[in-house]
Amino acid sequence: RKPVDSPLYALLAAASDYYRAALKNHPQRNAAVNYLKERGVSGIIARDFALGFAPPGWDNLSKHLGGDSLQQQALIDAGLLVENVDSQRRYDRFRDRIIFPIHDSRGRIIGFGGRVLGDDKPKYLNSPETAVFHKGQELYGLYEARKYNRQLNEIIVVEGYMDVIALAQQGLRNAVATLGTATSEEHIKRLFRVVPNILFCFDGDSAGRKAAWRALEATLSNLKDGQQARFLFVPDGEDPDSLIRSEGLEAFQARIAQQAVALTEYFFTHLSAEVNLDSLEGKAHLATLAAPLVERIPGANLRALMRQKLTHITGLSSAPSADNTTAPAANL
Ligand code: ATP
Ligand code: MN
Ligand code: MN
Ligand code: MN
Repeated sequence: RKPVDSPLYALLAAASDYYRAALKNHPQRNAAVNYLKERGVSGIIARDFALGFAPPGWDNLSKHLGGDSLQQQALIDAGLLVENVDSQRRYDRFRDRIIFPIHDSRGRIIGFGGRVLGDDKPKYLNSPETAVFHKGQELYGLYEARKYNRQLNEIIVVEGYMDVIALAQQGLRNAVATLGTATSEEHIKRLFRVVPNILFCFDGDSAGRKAAWRALEATLSNLKDGQQARFLFVPDGEDPDSLIRSEGLEAFQARIAQQAVALTEYFFTHLSAEVNLDSLEGKAHLATLAAPLVERIPGANLRALMRQKLTHITGLSSAPSADNTTAPAANL
């Protein structure tokens, strides 16, 4: 799936070295340093996550890594250099941004995220798909979390780079982020290979709530007995970064202890909210929505318990399977 060895790894590592050195030494680094300070990021966290700075300008990195046309092509292949097809002009992808290197599970740098220092758009820029970088499979911070603690029991899944950084800053070194993509089954498989427990904590907005249900769906099909997923819904307008920074570690941990809901609970409250359980029609609808999802659970005991629960809610003596005789298409 991924090349065992690729010349891109060395190039990406060299780029990361450049960005890190720029955060320390570049004459224009002040804005970046101040930005990180304002967001509460310490030198230790910047070091542990190898944060960097891509200075303003079109060719800082390409000049630094320079080289012949072969090297230039390698930079393009690594996603570091962008070539405009029309003008054939080439320029650095990351300019005037905070740089977050993304590591694979073996600690090799496979790509970068970059954040503007202000309110410009796009706020975040990621490396494109390359021979070594596949967004839908990677989790930002997983390598760092495991490096920090080999005996992890739970991983917190958040949306953004800065959520991972802020939680780490407060002492929660077990957060990872999907890279601006939905949580995939590949993500879940990866996480359950490492820990038995997952806590999803997405933003308190409609995108975050949508992301939570998508995460539930990806998790269901991979949930074996002995594994657990929970969801913490944060207040509207907050994300894990803003929340833990405003209320502190202890309050955040208390929130997890008191308010995180089990996947199975979220499952039934979410689906029940879509139907009227006072009517038989509503119960039938719930069964129609829930049964096919319940059948996807690989854990035989949990699956049986979920069927029972569905039976209890709907009164149906056995959970029916997906069924095409209900809810006819509108154009019948
Ligand atoms: P910040 O706190 O730095 O303002 P955030 O992480 O809270 O940013 P969100 O808008 O909540 O930003 O987005 C969550 C994540 O989605 C980001 O961390 C990033 O990985 C991804 N993302 C957001 N905007 C973009 C974009 N324009 N292009 C690519 N990815 C993006
Ligand atoms: Mn958001
Ligand atoms: Mn956010
Ligand atoms: Mn944020």
